[in-house]
Amino acid sequence: MVIPALYVHWAFCPYICPYCDFAKWLYDERAAERYVRALQAEIERTPALTASTVFYGGGTPNAYGSAQLVGVLARLRERFGVRDDAEVSIEVNPDRDLTSGFDALRAGGFNRLSIGAQSLEAGELRVLGRRHTAEDVAETVRRARAAGFTNVNVDLMFGVPGQTAASWERSLDAVLALGVEHVSTYGLTIEEGTPYARWQAREPAAFAGDDREAELYALAIRKLTAAGFEHYEISNFARPGFRCEHNANYWRNGEYLGFGVGAASYLDGVRSTHTRDRAEYEAAALAGEAIPGDSEDLAGDARTGEAVMLALRTSEGVDAGTFRERYGVDVFTHYAPIIAEYAAAGLLVADERSVRLTARGRFVANDVCGAFLART
Ligand code: SF4
Repeated sequence: MVIPALYVHWAFCPYICPYCDFAKWLYDERAAERYVRALQAEIERTPALTASTVFYGGGTPNAYGSAQLVGVLARLRERFGVRDDAEVSIEVNPDRDLTSGFDALRAGGFNRLSIGAQSLEAGELRVLGRRHTAEDVAETVRRARAAGFTNVNVDLMFGVPGQTAASWERSLDAVLALGVEHVSTYGLTIEEGTPYARWQAREPAAFAGDDREAELYALAIRKLTAAGFEHYEISNFARPGFRCEHNANYWRNGEYLGFGVGAASYLDGVRSTHTRDRAEYEAAALAGEAIPGDSEDLAGDARTGEAVMLALRTSEGVDAGTFRERYGVDVFTHYAPIIAEYAAAGLLVADERSVRLTARGRFVANDVCGAFLART
């Protein structure tokens, strides 16, 4: 059996951003060490399988020292037979104090660096509670290049309070000037229970509405595609040959195995998510017990709806032949009324081989995908 992708959640950050809803805690050396021991224990008790890509996310993986990050990767490689040429990504915070260990990361087998910049505008970074500057982002790219990273992504966010089309364009231009291979652009989402949710409740006008978000998204598409990037997934743009393999596996509804607090796995049609309670996670992992959490057996329409939703995010859309082979379902007949409705509205296009979002459909992808998920 092949497990295509491994995800490791590094749950500590040097500071906490007011919009963030990830499973994360403020970095504390003792707590961070205990967490790594738990991660290592979880890795050891997981049956050995063969994996393709590895992705370190967080949290802030580079809140940890390179030796810890590389040590865990070495064990993952041994245990899961990760090939030398596999894509191995790590998310990094561009804070200057955290980006000095790139040589060791590259030597230790990481070959793709994803920089959580969010913006290159000082005012927006302040509003987002981020501590780095645009110059820190540029320095991070320089350090990555000097260490030998040839595959670098920058994450950017649109819909930030106070952001204008002009300031968004400046961030995009600044990232393009850095010459990176990949750019991800995400609309700000307000997550319940965060300081941003309370701010929005007090002052809704401070936040971008749908029209403003669509305007900013359109600007990103125009600029990045004009610069030679392929818009290969709703939020992702890559120079030819630099699509993210790890994420492409998610969009193919491929299997994955997640380690760490709050991490998700998808194996044999079952999606499971570890508890987000760190103490509970660590206690179970260190005792060699099953990690508490939720699981859902995706079958029938739940499974195919999920597969359509994920594939529609990509520029290739749903390949009808592959879909029929894998799920025994003809996508055109099974979803005929939904396809007809959204095709008539100009949001989907279907030919004899595939179903895809149109350029306009990408702006309302959640609504279109939701219709497939809702079919029971
Ligand atoms: S946005 Fe990133 S750096 Fe900020 S708290 Fe969340 S995980 Fe940590």
